[in-house]
Formats: sequence, structure tokens, C-alpha cells
Amino acid sequence: MTGTAVPPITPRGEEARYYERLRAHEVTYQGCADCDSVIFPLRTVCPGCGSESLEDRVSSGRGSIHSFTTQHRAGHPLLADRVPYTLVLVDLDEGFRVMADLPGVDPESVAVGQSVEAWFDDIDERLTVLRFRRAGEDS
Ligand SMILES: [Zn+2]
Repeated sequence: MTGTAVPPITPRGEEARYYERLRAHEVTYQGCADCDSVIFPLRTVCPGCGSESLEDRVSSGRGSIHSFTTQHRAGHPLLADRVPYTLVLVDLDEGFRVMADLPGVDPESVAVGQSVEAWFDDIDERLTVLRFRRAGEDS
């Protein structure tokens, strides 16, 4: 489909900081200085103990597939030329879980437990999105 614009994304607060770090090709999560909880998505208060002593940490981007699904119908016209595409729920090595897509793979070859690594797709000068690829494969 031609002429389909990227939908405007205007993240705010902690989400804006997460997207700013994606522009620098970093997956950011937090650790609580008081109870050592691992926190994602970014917040202002620890969901474990209520502390506001949270520190930003940078993930290695490596993890394994916890679950996945293959989309055969595009949820947005922008994605029409991508179907089928696979969404993965990834357990990052640091102990948090994130969802993103795993583009360019045969959906039949995807399995729970496969090792994946983050890569960063610079959509335009404002937006970078997180995607995954299987460990050792080029995106
Ligand atoms: Zn805490």
C-alpha cells in the first residue's frame, strides 16, 4: 500500500524516555535500589515495594522466546505488506518480558525457547522500534 503514513506516536513520561533510549539503540529497564525488583515497562514507583529509588539499566537485548503468535491479517494498513508476521513475547536475560515482532522468518520455524536478540529499526528521524531476530541470524 502506498501513501500510508506512519501513525503519529507521542509517548509521554516514562514511555517517552524508553523511546528516547531506543533511538540510541538501547533497551532500557529499571532496577529498584530498595528491593532489587526488575521493572519493565519504566515507572516512577516500584510495583514491588513502593520505592521511588529506581535506576535505569540497559539490557543486553538477549533472551528467549516465551510465547509467539503469527498474524495473518494486518491490524493496520501500514502492516498490510508484512503479513504473515510473527509477534514474540521474549524473556530478556535480565528478568523482564517484552513483546515485539520477529520479521523475516518462516512462522513454522519459530519455537518457544529459541534464543533471540534485539535489533533496532530506525523508522524515521523520530522513531525507532524494537524488533528481534534469532540469535546468530542477520535481520
Ligand atoms: Zn522495590
